[in-house]
Amino acid sequence: MEILRTASSVRGFVESRRSAGETIGFVPTMGAFHEGHLTLMRRAKGECGRCVVSLFVNPTQFRPGEDFDRYPRDLETDSGLAESAGVDALFVPSVEEIYPDGPAVTVRVDELGDRWEGARRPGHFDGVATVCAKLFNIVPADRAYFGQKDFQQLKVIQRLVAALHVPTEIVTVPTVRESDGLAMSSRNTYLNDDERLAAPVIKRALQAAKARFHSGERSSEEIIQAAREVLADEDIVSEDYLDIADSESLEPLTLIERRAVILVAARVGPTRLLDNVLLECDGR
Ligand code: AMP
Repeated sequence: MEILRTASSVRGFVESRRSAGETIGFVPTMGAFHEGHLTLMRRAKGECGRCVVSLFVNPTQFRPGEDFDRYPRDLETDSGLAESAGVDALFVPSVEEIYPDGPAVTVRVDELGDRWEGARRPGHFDGVATVCAKLFNIVPADRAYFGQKDFQQLKVIQRLVAALHVPTEIVTVPTVRESDGLAMSSRNTYLNDDERLAAPVIKRALQAAKARFHSGERSSEEIIQAAREVLADEDIVSEDYLDIADSESLEPLTLIERRAVILVAARVGPTRLLDNVLLECDGR
């Protein structure tokens, strides 16, 4: 596995492989790899033959006071894990490499990026969209792999790629979970033992809501109530938002008549965790 630090070196790597007829899969990440990241990497490698991963803790998607400084960083462990997943090149740029002009150029995805996470973390998705637009230009991949875990981010990226005519296909990978249901996240490392024990209530709440939906309930309020009742089981877990939205526009729905998503952000102690499940109207 090659570790590349500059945009020109990773672009050269990708272009030489592509001109030899190879297909390139790309996985953008912020590191602190867990099984969720490794699943994306293995899938990219399996489907494309070549896998390029970027590891960049992007400062522009963190707000002042958020966890940018303490976000877990361990390149040695991460590069070992990436290599074991079959990654061919790990792109580890500096902030200056990605933002040579500082924050002079920003990509904004209106509406979709303003709701839910965007409302709680203003500017967050501008940072995400900007860095992904840059990365898609630096790494001209055939396919880029994103987790369903960050559902709103996925929708923002899909919209960005369509609007900017990025010729990379976006592939969605289902959320990878711990055996107790907790969605894997680099931020799970912030949880102490009590918080870690309590955190799976988030997934149980989503399951309760989904069961209510499958029993025929179509009122969002009723379904959300079923989730809230379960979430209340754990004192140290509190809702930031828990709502049901159209799975494409992410507009809130009061009645579920088309494919929808339950989006949740919850605080477990001081740590904020995200999760979601899809509600398919064809009964799945
Ligand atoms: P991050 O390093 O947290 O920015 O995540 C990099 C990519 O991995 C994003 O596309 C995430 O959605 C994806 N990802 C993170 N956690 C999971 C998970 N538990 N299951 C599937 N994909 C994930």
